[in-house]
Amino acid sequence: MNTTRYPSTSCPHCGYKMDAASPVEGTGVPSEGDFSVCINCAGLMVFTHDMTLRKFGEADYEELVSDTDVCRRLLTVRDLIKRIKDKA
Ligand SMILES: [Zn+2]
Repeated sequence: MNTTRYPSTSCPHCGYKMDAASPVEGTGVPSEGDFSVCINCAGLMVFTHDMTLRKFGEADYEELVSDTDVCRRLLTVRDLIKRIKDKA
């Protein structure tokens, strides 16, 4: 797993400041349209062209459910973050 740094941006759900992302698997770097999960609130987000993050829209949910592998991995990460936060 590798971590990619990008200009500071805020979670569109909770306002948490972020400047890095790590892929769930492999060594990929984020690009426009990639899905992400906020490490603070577990909100689902999408990378924009300038590497800021926006909330999921209707089309994003449709795309997510059309790819069961990506959906499973994204929701697994989201659930892990929620479980960690619930214990804190
Ligand atoms: Zn957040």
